[in-house]
Amino acid sequence: MPPVFEFEHLCDDLGPAKIVHICDPECGLRAVVVVDNVACGPSIGGIRMAPDVTTGEVFRLARAMSCKNVAAGLAHGGGKAGIMADPKSPEKPRLIRAFARAIRHLVEYIPGPDMGTNESCMAWIFDEIGRAVGLPRVLGGIPLDEIGATGYGLAQCAVVASTYCDLKLTGASVAVEGFGNVGRHAARFLEEMGAKLVAASDSRGAIYDPQGISTADLARIKSDSGSVTHWPKGQRLSQADLLTVPCDILVPAARPDCIREDNAHRIQARLILQGANIPATPAAESILHRRGVLSVPDFIANAGGVICAAVEYHGGTQASAFSQIAEKIRGNAQEVLSRSREEQVEPRRAALELAHERLKTAMALRTAG
Ligand code: NAD
Repeated sequence: MPPVFEFEHLCDDLGPAKIVHICDPECGLRAVVVVDNVACGPSIGGIRMAPDVTTGEVFRLARAMSCKNVAAGLAHGGGKAGIMADPKSPEKPRLIRAFARAIRHLVEYIPGPDMGTNESCMAWIFDEIGRAVGLPRVLGGIPLDEIGATGYGLAQCAVVASTYCDLKLTGASVAVEGFGNVGRHAARFLEEMGAKLVAASDSRGAIYDPQGISTADLARIKSDSGSVTHWPKGQRLSQADLLTVPCDILVPAARPDCIREDNAHRIQARLILQGANIPATPAAESILHRRGVLSVPDFIANAGGVICAAVEYHGGTQASAFSQIAEKIRGNAQEVLSRSREEQVEPRRAALELAHERLKTAMALRTAG
């Protein structure tokens, strides 16, 4: 039987609920929105702006948001959008505004920032249709990158995860791949808990200083000079070598698939907090699990940003965002890691089981009665 429509291979019993392609030849807008699953409420997910973003990629990201949002117990489903354009284009404001008008009636999708979009883009969308999260503070937003919502969640995750790998956070050494919005704040919050940053990388290279690196000093150096590589002490490393330095906690917070079959055997950390989305391949996660390295899956560990966005959407404060991030991420990490231990399965499998069960329960409640 030929497929009924082109993207049928993406469909399963969870979604997607809608795939909307948008084409506005007048302003050159080409975009796609995938609303994956809305059993828990209108979907929240970022808008990725890149010339090569595809429907398949947007679908996978939307599914990841369904899992992340349901696992975090948010009254929101998962969705994602892609705008096929260069985010540095001078046409960006016009394209974003045209995109906003095109999704005015797609009320089951609430847009937020992702790669290539930011708070200003959300302000333009809000101006057009009154619906967006990740807004600037002046418009009632809680600036999640500025306050370090995702990094805070990663540190909260560490509090629970450390008990599953016999690690004391006080004195633990930390390596961060990608000293940006996620990695920098994760390092800062872990430092506040007594841990010590010993290595960090960015797009220009990496540094390793076993004596310890002050996160505030490194942030200042990166902000002034553009790179962590100007840290005056310790040694310079390649970005690849950062992943295998001696440390207790590794926070991959830059690219997908940086932990692979070819380096998973050499990772020395006992605990990996997945800050980036899909930083490890499935094969690498299996290797780590067999080696006894605890790797907390991305959609459990890095949910701080979307929890903050949901709090903003419902009119909450920054203080309540922090307390909900702590409560939800600690609770989920506990549930996933205890299930993983009891059932002797990889943490990702335990996390996916948890998310799928919750999605199916929510879907059953929507159709029952
Ligand atoms: P960012 O742009 O603020 O920071 C990324 C950092 O990674 C930068 O310092 C950059 O120089 C560095 N980098 C780029 N290429 C690198 C490389 N090859 N090796 C080492 N470092 C490199 O981005 P961010 O907001 O911190 O997001 C990082 C990752 O986390 C992304 O995958 C993003 O999708 C994911 N994420 C972000 C959030 C959030 O709240 N911002 C939430 C969940 C997931």
